[in-house]
Amino acid sequence: MLILNNILKFYIAPQLQLMALKIQVTKTTLPSKKEYFQYIDQIWKNGWLTNNGPLSLKLELELKSFLGVPYLQFISNGTIALQLAINSLKLDGEIITTPYSYVATTSAILWENCKPVFCDIKKGSFNIDADLIESKITSKTCAILATHVYGIPCDVKKIEQIAKKHNLKVIYDAAHAFGVKIGDKSIFNYGDISITSFHATKIFHTIEGGAVITQNKELDKLIGLGKTFGHVGDDHKLLGINGKNSEFHAAMGLCNLKTIQDQIEARQEMYNFFCNSLVGLPIKTLFIPTGVTHNYAYFPIVFKNNEEMIAAKDLMEKNEIYPRRYFYPSLNRLPYIKNKVSCPISEDISEKVLCLPFYPSLSIEQMERIFNCLKRALNYV
Ligand SMILES: *Cc1c(COP(=O)(O)O)cnc(C)c1O
Repeated sequence: MLILNNILKFYIAPQLQLMALKIQVTKTTLPSKKEYFQYIDQIWKNGWLTNNGPLSLKLELELKSFLGVPYLQFISNGTIALQLAINSLKLDGEIITTPYSYVATTSAILWENCKPVFCDIKKGSFNIDADLIESKITSKTCAILATHVYGIPCDVKKIEQIAKKHNLKVIYDAAHAFGVKIGDKSIFNYGDISITSFHATKIFHTIEGGAVITQNKELDKLIGLGKTFGHVGDDHKLLGINGKNSEFHAAMGLCNLKTIQDQIEARQEMYNFFCNSLVGLPIKTLFIPTGVTHNYAYFPIVFKNNEEMIAAKDLMEKNEIYPRRYFYPSLNRLPYIKNKVSCPISEDISEKVLCLPFYPSLSIEQMERIFNCLKRALNYV
């Protein structure tokens, strides 16, 4: 038995070690079980599990105060938040949008029976090229839906000017931008509506979840009604959907909100360490404009060409490091998009970009493994 135990020990240990060696692109932050379970106890006491319960309302209040936003609705996820945004603004027709985003930005437009009109991104940035937007406007254009990619703000001033001039609505997909500010102002306070995601892979999460943020009280009311099937008691006021979230999700949010500021600070330090360690490599990374408070949610790198990106990705995967092609493909190339247009800059970037594993609990040793792989792939050692 002793021998068997020993064999088992030696047999199992390396496998467990291998699992520990795997580095995924991100790792979900979890609060202490004790803290989470205190909220769960409250849920049991209240006997209230969903439908705008006390924890959901508390989370909404705390988020508004933390972010400095006037109105915020806690939603089941970021995708439904996008659909509610489009729906509550009663958009109909063409929506000018970015091809460089997560697929939900485009799919929400299609689910709301509008037409996505892709406007390429700006060279040297990952965001929609505001200088190209006007050339995409037709008599059917109703709105602009842009993403603050990797939490870098779009050219919000220019977009606002264009929207005013042409009487268009503006929605921001701010799923990457939790905690981002321009000066003292939350990025969520721009546009007619901003949405965000609280999915487990985002820096602030509620397991699944999202939010709709607006400056307009009436619009906020509409969204609140829209997320609860559009009726109050027996009074059916509008066509709604089930976009509520649960008390269990709210509890996770209340726990995570307590540590988010520390998380962002830890990420900033890591970000600087990554930047310093990668100096000299033939890659480009984010440019954070002055005056912007960033959240360091992602660490994207853009290679010189697709071959070098694939070589680096292959070598990392051989070494059990899993970066992600985020975003790929360029959304104008989705198979279900009719009348394909070309967006050369977005397509080019999406062929050359990788998001590196980037989360606060990465050890120095793990970071070194990532950097070494990159350097070897790029023949830099
Ligand atoms: C994550 C994400 C979404 C979707 O959010 P979910 O909460 O997963 O539905 C939408 N847009 C962008 C840019 C995202 O990163």
